[in-house]
Amino acid sequence: HAKLAGRNQIAFFNPAMTRELARRKEIESELRGAIQRDELALYFQPIIDLATGRIRAFEALVRWFHPEKGELTPDEFIPVAEDTGLIITLGNWITRTAARACASWPGDVHLAVNLSPAQLRAPGAALGISAALRDTGLDPARLEFEVTESLFVEECHETTVFMEHLAAIGVRFSLDDFGTGYSSLHYINKYPFSTIKVDRSFVSGPATGLRTEAIIRAVAEMGATLGMEIVAEGLETADQVAGVRAAGCTLGQGYYFSRPVPEHLALRLLEEERGLAGRLLAG
Ligand code: C2E
Ligand code: MG
Ligand code: MG
Ligand code: MG
Repeated sequence: HAKLAGRNQIAFFNPAMTRELARRKEIESELRGAIQRDELALYFQPIIDLATGRIRAFEALVRWFHPEKGELTPDEFIPVAEDTGLIITLGNWITRTAARACASWPGDVHLAVNLSPAQLRAPGAALGISAALRDTGLDPARLEFEVTESLFVEECHETTVFMEHLAAIGVRFSLDDFGTGYSSLHYINKYPFSTIKVDRSFVSGPATGLRTEAIIRAVAEMGATLGMEIVAEGLETADQVAGVRAAGCTLGQGYYFSRPVPEHLALRLLEEERGLAGRLLAG
């Protein structure tokens, strides 16, 4: 729009953009101390086996409880962490904290952790993760890293090394927000993904209907052929659950089942599902 504003006007930043920039700067400087000040927390959202209704896994989702700004969602600070390189420290904290939680759950409950592409590219990042797993005692086979498709990077040697190193010890990978990038099938072909998470926009977006149903069905069919699991994200209604089940999705996640909850409530969900066996865990 700057060009349209006329030759003699400087219109690079409007007030809203200036405010946004200032907020980013603030977040950047405060994020550095947030971990030490104990302002970050992980929430957990269950991923449900659509065949049995049981909790297959929890996805860890980071929150920042800022003393003045209140609760910040990852969209507000993860990009800042990525730009500043803080994501490595933050990511290691997230993996370690989530792994510790998962290690206290029943052995068949898995853990999904989101990874930024910057973490996949960082030299030696796989070592940090192996260390976290060793320290927490979590079986690597219970851990799955989610990589958001729209952010995933192209042809990167470090990424391949990272994924192969972790895949070799049993860690799995899922392609998050499937359908939002521009090279979905290429990623599936080239990297060792074992799960596809169909983006929420296909499940609950404004254009859901016959077309999106056909797309989900095709993805689920491909997944079955390739031995991959298909998770439907963003399930909010019983109709949507029925729809994605009929289309062949094996797993589902969304507010219909549960919002992301703090660790003690995640335990409560397990307890409800497993009765007395779960009660033992919480005690
Ligand atoms: P994502 O990995 O695709 O996570 C799903 C997001 O959708 C979460 O938002 C979740 O709260 C939300 N969601 C779940 N079910 C529903 C539903 O039924 N309806 C609607 N409308 N939303 C639903 P959240 O927690 O704000 O996270 C946003 C994104 O930030 C995540 O998308 C992920 O890409 C990123 N993120 C979150 N935690 C981490 C983290 O620990 N590390 C990294 N690198 N990225 C993270
Ligand atoms: Mg995710
Ligand atoms: Mg997702
Ligand atoms: Mg998403």
